Amino acid sequence: MIRLKQLIEVLEAWAPPALQESYDNCGLQCGQQDMVIKGVLTTLDVTVEVLKEAIDSGANVIVAHHPLIFKPLKKITGANEVEQILLIAIKHEVAIYALHTNLDSVNTGVNAKLAELLGLEKLRILRPKTDHLVKLEVFVPSSHTQRVLDALGNAGAGQIGNYKNCSFRSSGTGSFTPAQGAQPSIGEIGKAEEVNEDKIEVIFQQNLQSSVLRALRDSHPYEEIAYYLLPLQNVDQEVGAGMVGELKTAMQWEDWLTHVSKALSLQTFRHSPPAFQQVQKIAICGGSGIFLTQDAIRSGAQVFLTADIKYHEYFDALGKITLVDVGHHQSETATRFLIKDYLSRKFPNIAVNFSKTDTNPVRNYLNR
Ligand SMILES: [Zn+2]
Repeated sequence: MIRLKQLIEVLEAWAPPALQESYDNCGLQCGQQDMVIKGVLTTLDVTVEVLKEAIDSGANVIVAHHPLIFKPLKKITGANEVEQILLIAIKHEVAIYALHTNLDSVNTGVNAKLAELLGLEKLRILRPKTDHLVKLEVFVPSSHTQRVLDALGNAGAGQIGNYKNCSFRSSGTGSFTPAQGAQPSIGEIGKAEEVNEDKIEVIFQQNLQSSVLRALRDSHPYEEIAYYLLPLQNVDQEVGAGMVGELKTAMQWEDWLTHVSKALSLQTFRHSPPAFQQVQKIAICGGSGIFLTQDAIRSGAQVFLTADIKYHEYFDALGKITLVDVGHHQSETATRFLIKDYLSRKFPNIAVNFSKTDTNPVRNYLNR
């Protein structure tokens, strides 16, 4: 018996809610955390049709990329589709959960899936997040150094790229005098004490701070732990907006167009005149990514593939990088497979399916 709370913990270990943008509204949109999961349906958008698909298939949890609720609601009377969905979902006890810009920001999220479809390799984040890393410096009696290091590592501290348990330590002498009321693990009240201590330094992502500090408190022997938390200005290469990668071999522009239409199953898409006749380095951002154009140019990419590009934005990029607009829905629709695959791996005993409803509100007229 698996409860919604467990599913949410697993999703948030992958895409921490702390990584969402300020305007976003990720997380549980409706439903109760203690409900028992019967089945999960993954989707890009939540519509009445998707909700009915979930109910008909026996799924009582919908995991979506786009949040159902964006603006605060003052009443739920069914006056619009969001309210109708909420009424039906509550009546049928279906929970709705959204991973949005937090899933955009992780390097195994929306853009990694898009890159996989396009056959891009050597991936890195296009605009890595800054102000996201924290350094912990803590003083530990040498007898407990390994124990504290292990606990910090298990909480996710010291992970830099593909390296785990990264830390630095130096040895010295700690001194203190336990005062009245103290319950020292070393030393006596009123007597100056000196102890061989190690100073441990580790870096971690800000969203891990509470679990790292909990691990520190649980593993450290002292009543009062001496530690510093230092916000870092280093960029976090693991987290951020957009991605850039390379095709295995360079392609002629015309071949690249065919490649895109096949890889993303597109009948039509828009692009600017090619800035380069040969393409290999490709910047991407699922959804509305045009704010990343300068980062894409700086990365040396010949193409920036995203969605929701406006007329004048094409002008701004002319000759510097080729813009490709595949459509918002088309750039992110594979996210439902991504979430499905992740949850199926983590919960092999739960029926997880992706929605077969076409939720794209934009249609193309093709004059054949
Ligand atoms: Zn989107």
